[in-house]
Amino acid sequence: MNIAQINTLEKPQWCPGCGDFGILMAIKSALTALDRDPSEVVIVSGIGCGGKTPHYIRTYGYEGLHGRLLPLALGIKISNPDLTVIAIGGDGDGLSEGGNHLLHFARYNVDITYLLQDNQVYGLTTGQSSPTSHKGFRSKTYPDGTPIEPVKHIPMLVSQRASFVAAGYAGNVKHLSQLILEGIRHRGFSFINIYQPCITWNYMNGYEWYQSRVYITDHNPEDFDTAWQKANEPYNTNWEKIPIGVIYKNQSITLDEEIVNRVGKLISIPKPQDISGLLDRFSI
Ligand code: SF4
Repeated sequence: MNIAQINTLEKPQWCPGCGDFGILMAIKSALTALDRDPSEVVIVSGIGCGGKTPHYIRTYGYEGLHGRLLPLALGIKISNPDLTVIAIGGDGDGLSEGGNHLLHFARYNVDITYLLQDNQVYGLTTGQSSPTSHKGFRSKTYPDGTPIEPVKHIPMLVSQRASFVAAGYAGNVKHLSQLILEGIRHRGFSFINIYQPCITWNYMNGYEWYQSRVYITDHNPEDFDTAWQKANEPYNTNWEKIPIGVIYKNQSITLDEEIVNRVGKLISIPKPQDISGLLDRFSI
C-alpha cells in the first residue's frame, strides 16, 4: 500500500509535540512497506490519547473499551487469520485495566502486533500517575510524588517467553518504523513498548531526558539470558540506560495454528458482506 491510500482527511487532535505524532508516522511508514491492501489491515485501539490512532489511518479500525483492546484483536484474528491485526493503546489502558490480558497474551501467542504507547502518565484524563510512572513522579494522584515503583512489564513478558518483545522510542521514527514492520512480519504475538514523551503532563520524561538515555541494542534476542539482562537494564541503572530494539524473540506455534491442528478449522470465517452503503454513510 502507499501513503496516499492510508492517509485520512482527519487532522490529529494531539497536543503539538506529542510523541503520538512520531508513532503515527512510524506506523504509516511500516504499513507502506508491507505488501498488503489497506482492507487487509485492522487497527484496534483502547481509550486514551493514542486510542485515536485508528482515526488517522485508512485501514479498518475499531476503538474499543478501556483496557480491552487485546480481546478484540484476538476475536478479529481468530475469526479471520488472513488479516494483519495491530492493537495500540497507552500504558494506563494496557497495564492497569488491561494488565491481565497482557499476561495471558504472552502465553496465547496470537499472531497480532501490540504497540504500547508508554508515556508514564494518564494524559487524556489530565495527568494522573499511571502503572509506569517513575517513583517520585508528582501528579494529581500523588502531589508529593508517587511512592510506588513502576510495573516491570518488559521483564514480565520476557520471563513468560512471549514470542517477540521489543522497545522503541517515539523520537526515533525510522528505527521505530523498522521495528513495527519486523513485529508485524513476526509470526506470533509481537509486543513493542514505545517510550513516548507526553509533553503536557509528564514533566520528567521528555525528549531531552530520553535523548541521552536511549540507545539501540544489537544483542542476540534469541539468547534468553542476554534478553533478560537487557529487559531489566532500565530498572537496574535507574533509567540511565534504556535499550531499544528487539529485546527477546522465539518462534513457536501460534494459537490459530494450534486450533487448526486440533479441530481442523478456526472458529468461524465470516462470509464477505457488502457494507458499501454503511461505509458511504459514515465516510468523510
Ligand atoms: Fe500527547 Fe500528553 Fe497531549 Fe495526550 S496529553 S495528546 S499524550 S501530549
